[in-house]
Amino acid sequence: MNDELIRLSADEQAQLIRTKQISASELLDTILSHAVETNEKTHAIVTFCGKEAREKAEMIDRKLAKGEDPGPLAGVPYSAKDVFCTRGIRTTGGSRILEKWIPPYDAAAIERMNNAGAILFGKTNCDEFAMGGTGETAAQQPVPCNPHDPERVAGGSSSGSGAAAASGAGAISLGTDTGGSIREPAAFCGAVGLKPTYGRVSRWGMLAFASSMDTVGPITRFVKDAALAMNVLAGFDSRDNVTVRVPVPNYTESLQQGVRGMRIGISPDLLKVTIMHEKGDFENFPIDTDITAALEHTVTLLEKAGAEIIPDIPMPNTKYSVPAYFVISRIEAYSNLQRYDGLKYGRACAQNSEDMYDLFAKSRSEGFGHEVKLRILSGLFLSQKEFYEKYYHRAQQARAMIRSDYDRIFDPNGYYRLDVLLTPTTPTPAFRFDRQGSDPLLIQYADQFTSPMNFAGTPGISFPVGFTETGLPIGIQAAGYDYCEEKILRAAYAVEQQLSSAQEAL
Ligand code: GLN
Repeated sequence: MNDELIRLSADEQAQLIRTKQISASELLDTILSHAVETNEKTHAIVTFCGKEAREKAEMIDRKLAKGEDPGPLAGVPYSAKDVFCTRGIRTTGGSRILEKWIPPYDAAAIERMNNAGAILFGKTNCDEFAMGGTGETAAQQPVPCNPHDPERVAGGSSSGSGAAAASGAGAISLGTDTGGSIREPAAFCGAVGLKPTYGRVSRWGMLAFASSMDTVGPITRFVKDAALAMNVLAGFDSRDNVTVRVPVPNYTESLQQGVRGMRIGISPDLLKVTIMHEKGDFENFPIDTDITAALEHTVTLLEKAGAEIIPDIPMPNTKYSVPAYFVISRIEAYSNLQRYDGLKYGRACAQNSEDMYDLFAKSRSEGFGHEVKLRILSGLFLSQKEFYEKYYHRAQQARAMIRSDYDRIFDPNGYYRLDVLLTPTTPTPAFRFDRQGSDPLLIQYADQFTSPMNFAGTPGISFPVGFTETGLPIGIQAAGYDYCEEKILRAAYAVEQQLSSAQEAL
């Protein structure tokens, strides 16, 4: 029974609880002990909050006994990346500077999950302030590893969330995505990861990295669970002024509509890695051949499900994404991280300081890790007045050009009229911690297919479609237009359905 419970989707778990076939406390015990056990291998979770979780589960059980409705996710255990503030539960942001910080309030996303009856049982380890693509910049060691191969990274920066969800340590984990950090770990670990439209989910109470791109979304094992989590997470919040009053559809219900008649595009520009050299010339590199083959297979499945495939979609500005992301994300991070000075926020340095400025300098030197310092310094450099034209202005121009690619292909009156753009999530599968067998250049460009959507503000979902010859998970991404999460979920669901029925037939 226990193994079966772990394999269930959040939707099925909620059903069992609602129909009283199992109590929330029983389910929590099972998931929690599985999570503790697998954590020995994956190191996905940095802080367990079993006591708080048990109290919540008992409350859900009491409500159910009284015949009250405890919410759509009642009794479903979940974890959240350690960048979400959680009341009374340590929130480190993967950093030493917040090592012992206990927030006095819950982030909006946590609030919404909790109000829906979900039970937070742990905080997942992540790159420091979400800066990274492998989980390795986390201050808390050991860092998460890939559940499919402990020698390999789980992706990042929501590395622990990817590893937790993929290994059944809770069916849902909340992550954040600024350049690919939900979709990449999902792809590397064989999970589903949804980065919603910018402003679809409130970021209030989430530790900011690059505010013009930061988004909050779920990592799950099943597409339906991503839809279920979005039902709960999406919506206006007056405390995050980029959220909007666009109505929230019922994402789970619309999954049933399938993909018949959908126009799904493939772009050759997102089937290669393009690197810009200093003098402005470009060089193309092929991506992993197993990933290209997986994309082709996904296309045939979608075609079989009734979608119309449109090849040769031009996305000419994708190639600017990684360099422009470098500039914009560093400048915004530099600004956002000023608050951690040992006085307003963050742990003060252990040594004596001469004055306030000395306290700031020492606290920041002690509290931040190498990658964060590097990014703060790059941001400081890149935002100097004399470099404005050369870097920031050009990066913003590139960003506008990238956005125009998306406006053009999804324009309902335009030439392409796409509903979904299908791309690989990453150019390679998960790489080894020692980087053996991987091209360092391709690692640097790991975000080439994910960061454009953070610039455009449009949604993307990575879903698992199989494995490489060496047994590593492959993720494919369905990208859509603003507030069209529902369509990309439908595309991912159609593929998932066919893959699982094919597997059952074996
Ligand atoms: N890998 C990217 C970076 O290091 C993206 C991180 C993210 O999305 N949070 O900045």
